Amino acid sequence: MKEIIASDFEKEVLAGGNVLVDFYSTECPPCEAVAPKLHSLEKLFGKEIKFVKIFRQGNRDLADQLAVKSSPTLLFYQDGEEVSARLTGGVKRSEIVRELKHVLGKERVSEIMKTQEPTITNVDVAILGAGPGGLTAGLYLCQARINTVLVDIALPGGNVSTTHMVSNYPGFIDPQPGYMLSHNMSEQTKRCGTTYKVAVDVTHVDLQKKEIIIDGQETIRAKRIIIATGTSPNRIGIPGELEFKGNGISYCATCDAKYFVDKEVVVIGGGNSAIEEADFISKFASKITIVHQFDQLQANKTAQEKAFENPKISFMLSHEPRAFKKVGDKMVVEVEDLKTKEMKTLTSDGIFVFIGQKPNLEMFGDALNLDKWGYIQTDEDMRTNIEGVFAVGDVGSKKYRQITTAIADGTIAAIAITREIG
Ligand SMILES: Cc1cc2nc3c(=O)[nH]c(=O)nc-3n(C[C@H](O)[C@H](O)[C@H](O)COP(=O)(O)OP(=O)(O)OC[C@H]3O[C@@H](n4cnc5c(N)ncnc54)[C@H](O)[C@@H]3O)c2cc1C
Repeated sequence: MKEIIASDFEKEVLAGGNVLVDFYSTECPPCEAVAPKLHSLEKLFGKEIKFVKIFRQGNRDLADQLAVKSSPTLLFYQDGEEVSARLTGGVKRSEIVRELKHVLGKERVSEIMKTQEPTITNVDVAILGAGPGGLTAGLYLCQARINTVLVDIALPGGNVSTTHMVSNYPGFIDPQPGYMLSHNMSEQTKRCGTTYKVAVDVTHVDLQKKEIIIDGQETIRAKRIIIATGTSPNRIGIPGELEFKGNGISYCATCDAKYFVDKEVVVIGGGNSAIEEADFISKFASKITIVHQFDQLQANKTAQEKAFENPKISFMLSHEPRAFKKVGDKMVVEVEDLKTKEMKTLTSDGIFVFIGQKPNLEMFGDALNLDKWGYIQTDEDMRTNIEGVFAVGDVGSKKYRQITTAIADGTIAAIAITREIG
């Protein structure tokens, strides 16, 4: 991709034609993740769209002038005008293609996409999921010189990257910000030389054949697959939840608490996550009401004591949400008092839901043996019932789901695989 500087912008971008501009930075994992996608799309679209990149830190005035605030930021121009939404963060290939339609038109983009050649990558091990379990397996395999690729639908880090502070990961005297801990894990594995294919669409997985298709175009063939896809937040499954998800209802305090400075918030749940995250939200919000279905909290004693001492937090125990609504810019949750059956209404500025997690297994069909809660059963080496397929971390059947248990699983699977194919 052609590198330009601020003084070239007029000539290279605004003077005319179709241009995709990538504002990038160094030491920027999402920039590294998007670079190969832009490279492959330039090969496909390069005759009709000019692809240029600008080093954001070195061209700050231009970035400020264009209100480009983070890296990477992709901008799409047609004859000097910006013609589509900007893309930032963990940008997927499919998202770039979607925005290119605003530049070239839907039909032309579809025509060009049809000309792309499928590619095949052969590796020893493919790891699906770059949370603590997958990253640790990647590190051990890489250090054993086993050709490994880490595939994730998001940027690396998993659930830890959205956890505010982690105080129980050994080796650190003080609590660590979750995003830093996961960043360090990821950089350690990457520095070893593991190949990353992250923020991709996992189009198809065939566990029997050990094939993974990403972005509808690249087939990864592996001798072994490690499933490390972790968990996602449970939904309550009541009216209004889907409608207001991301628009009044959040499942991630680290991501969204900052939007609730001096505002009132309802937190649903009573386990460790709910209570610890409510404590974090209280740094921003003025008032938090925790709604929990049981008559006592399920969180550990330390977390409970902290919450009970927090003057901003109050509790509605033995209450269950029944519906979410929006009235003006306020969120309304209807709750039932499980003891009296009385319905009550709680009005707030936002709602956070922390009611546990479910395993991410949708891609894998029904050939895997699962436990009665739907988690993957493994033997002590993390082998599943499908030959050559391992499962590690929170997606596996186990009693305790923590960073330490996920990295232990990743270690075990990697060593077991090294003994088999190393
Ligand atoms: C709010 C919260 C707070 C927590 N706090 C702590 C704590 O303080 N201490 C502690 O020890 N533990 C804590 N945990 C638990 C800890 O985060 C998990 O145990 C740990 O992250 C599990 O790691 P993992 O690698 O198994 O999965 P995850 O961290 O869930 O990572 C899974 C990865 O797989 C990716 N993925 C999903 N589907 C696919 C797919 N189809 N293809 C490819 N990739 C896919 C995801 O994008 C993700 O990056 C917390 C969890 C939550 C939710």
